[in-house]
Amino acid sequence: MNNLKNLRAISFGIGLIAVIALTVMNIYSLYELRESSIESAKENKRSHIDEFSREVSWHFNFPSREVRKFGDDGVGHFQEYYAQTGKLPTKLRKSLGTVSENRIFSEIYFTPHATDHCIDFMQPMFRYNPDTNEMDRADMVPEVVCDGIGLARSRVQTMIDELRWSNQITYDLHRSMTISLINRSDNTIFGHLNFVIDRDYLVNEYFPEKLEDKFGEADESGIVVWLIDDVFTNIIGSSDPTYDFNWREIDIRQRFPDLPENWILYAKFIDSPTIAASNASWIRNLLVLGTAVFALFGALIFMYITSKRERELAQRQAGFLANVTHELKTPLAAMQAAGENISDGRVTDGNRLKTYGNHIYNESIRLRKMIDKLLDIARFDAGTSNTIQRAPQKLDEMARQFFRDHYNYVTSKGFRFTLASDTNIPLAMVDSDHIETILSNLVENALKYSTDTKEIHIGIRQKDNHVSLHVRDRGVGIPKRAQKQIFEKFYRIEDTLTARTKGHGLGLSIVQNLVTLNGGRIDVESKPGQGSTFIVSFPVFLESTQTDKKSESTPRKKSRKMTGESEYAE
Ligand code: ADP
Repeated sequence: MNNLKNLRAISFGIGLIAVIALTVMNIYSLYELRESSIESAKENKRSHIDEFSREVSWHFNFPSREVRKFGDDGVGHFQEYYAQTGKLPTKLRKSLGTVSENRIFSEIYFTPHATDHCIDFMQPMFRYNPDTNEMDRADMVPEVVCDGIGLARSRVQTMIDELRWSNQITYDLHRSMTISLINRSDNTIFGHLNFVIDRDYLVNEYFPEKLEDKFGEADESGIVVWLIDDVFTNIIGSSDPTYDFNWREIDIRQRFPDLPENWILYAKFIDSPTIAASNASWIRNLLVLGTAVFALFGALIFMYITSKRERELAQRQAGFLANVTHELKTPLAAMQAAGENISDGRVTDGNRLKTYGNHIYNESIRLRKMIDKLLDIARFDAGTSNTIQRAPQKLDEMARQFFRDHYNYVTSKGFRFTLASDTNIPLAMVDSDHIETILSNLVENALKYSTDTKEIHIGIRQKDNHVSLHVRDRGVGIPKRAQKQIFEKFYRIEDTLTARTKGHGLGLSIVQNLVTLNGGRIDVESKPGQGSTFIVSFPVFLESTQTDKKSESTPRKKSRKMTGESEYAE
């Protein structure tokens, strides 16, 4: 039995651990799933930004691609042609024509190496004329070409890099782009092509359109992208102008590779439909999981408690069987012995005959009490105890009658027995026999479970359309944890007094069944060491329905005289 108990506790523990482990594992994988779907949504956005900067780079690198088309020898040929004609070859001009169609660059200049028109305007500088496809001598050169940054930087940079690159590109902030034409065969510099960047076009058309095209509305795409000029700290363009830029909320900061320095892309993630959907599904999954785990826990605990209860009930029933066999045999044996003595004619004396008769009578009462209880319980269990004769009754009258009938018996046991009733107690629809059984069981218990202070009080009260009977004692009391269980059949509190007191744990179960049958309820208020009060209450009978209710009664054989009567009689 003990092994089984341990096994049950161990399986319950394993079950609990399994449920907890599964829950933790599930929450973790749900969390991972959510994180990875959010991360992949963000990754997707990041790749959009990369794509965007690649596309912009592609546009900016257009001139360099055009120049690179001529290969390593190209510059050498240009150099020769220029030396012979003082002009740039047609195919190079053609390429510059294609570049000039790109609106990013507004003007194209060519400065032969080792000349500096900006210092000495007699030295040559050419400007590409898209109308004639010719390189015209430039007189008025824009400041951006000559202000000492664009070309100079290009020259210096080319030197520093030791002519490593055939088409050295240098950006002058975001104002111009210079390509140094380097002859790879003898590592000489032929000249510098300067492409003036059209900032107005970039700021007002190119970037706003491209950003909007690529990323669209932030609520849809889940990202807002700004292009910021870090030198002047101004916003050049934004993919969704409804969002304000805030440094603290930025998730990505990215430069354009090989493009005008200081123009930087900033991006911020916002809850896109994908992220919102994965958040919602995370919450939904958590809720479903929570409910399932809750139900599983509930079921486990329920199974554990019911199996524990059933085990206890089985134990109590087994104990009861052993006990009741003994209880039934004892009065029978006493009656048998007394009857035998009388029938043998061994007892002839009148007084002794009376004693033997009394003995047989009392024992038979005891036996019937036991059998009645057993039958009551069997009937309740089988659900056949609905033969009930309810009628409007004066509960106070019935309690007084009971009090009078049992007064001598109770006081003979050394108890103070009192009764108090409210006035004008209304009628209640009950079966009078049942009330007597209820009272006698409660008083019987009060007698059994009182030790030092021997007081029993019956009270009758009316409150809120209910009439209640109170049976109060000053006995051993009932611990809080047992107050519900005492109404279960075969349940007896395990203490020394109960062990010494005769009983089978059936009385209160019968009382509760009878109370319920009569439409009432039973409660107990008790403190260990201070006594207990059992309160049985029934709804007040309403006069208007009196006649109808009367017809509810079903005939049955006259119920047995309640147990206590003969015992209590003096
Ligand atoms: P029994 O008295 O035959 O054991 P009951 O069903 O009448 O069975 O009562 C169940 C248990 O409740 C008792 O064993 C006792 O421990 C406890 N009990 C009942 N009435 C009282 C009371 N008035 N005071 C203290 N304990 C009580």
